[in-house]
Amino acid sequence: MNLSADFDLKDLVRTIPDYPKPGIMFRDITTLLGHATGFKACVEQLVRPFTNRRVQSVAGIEARGFILGGAAADRLHCGFVPIRKKGKLPAKAIGQDYELEYGIDVIEIHEDAISAGEPVLLVDDLIATGGTAEAAVKLLRKLNADVVGATFVIDLPDLGGSTRLAGLGIECHSLMSFAGD
Ligand code: AMP
Repeated sequence: MNLSADFDLKDLVRTIPDYPKPGIMFRDITTLLGHATGFKACVEQLVRPFTNRRVQSVAGIEARGFILGGAAADRLHCGFVPIRKKGKLPAKAIGQDYELEYGIDVIEIHEDAISAGEPVLLVDDLIATGGTAEAAVKLLRKLNADVVGATFVIDLPDLGGSTRLAGLGIECHSLMSFAGD
């Protein structure tokens, strides 16, 4: 995807083979975040499908979703709500578990972070199997949020996450995709 004559956003993502374990191609966005024009273009594109929609809060998933989600919320002139790993939020929170390759993990949100019917946009850096994003959607729906969509920098379509979110009725956008896992 060409943003300007100068660079391609996808070229700013660094791939680290066999991290954090053998066989994983880790898509590292720190190189993109560190590139001033690239980061700005990335945030602009993340929010573009939602600029003319009613979004009251952006929910970002720990940890890279905080960086992108905070910037996206600023762009959309709305608030930011953190979705964190279990035990990290200071006030009363509700949780949602989801399956990892080995075991179960839990994410949480403050129970008063969203009002019923509030239009919320979900943001994260990458969607792979969609397990994390699905848990985040379930969490938001437990608070009766209206999840207007989900936006990611990277989709790994072979792992099926964006299809899984579509199955939940979530409009899913991404800026680029990488074949395989
Ligand atoms: P999933 O729940 O399988 O969709 O995984 C999504 C979460 O895991 C995101 O928060 C990503 O940051 C992280 N993740 C999964 N696979 C990768 C990968 N190949 N490179 C970088 N991050 C990944």
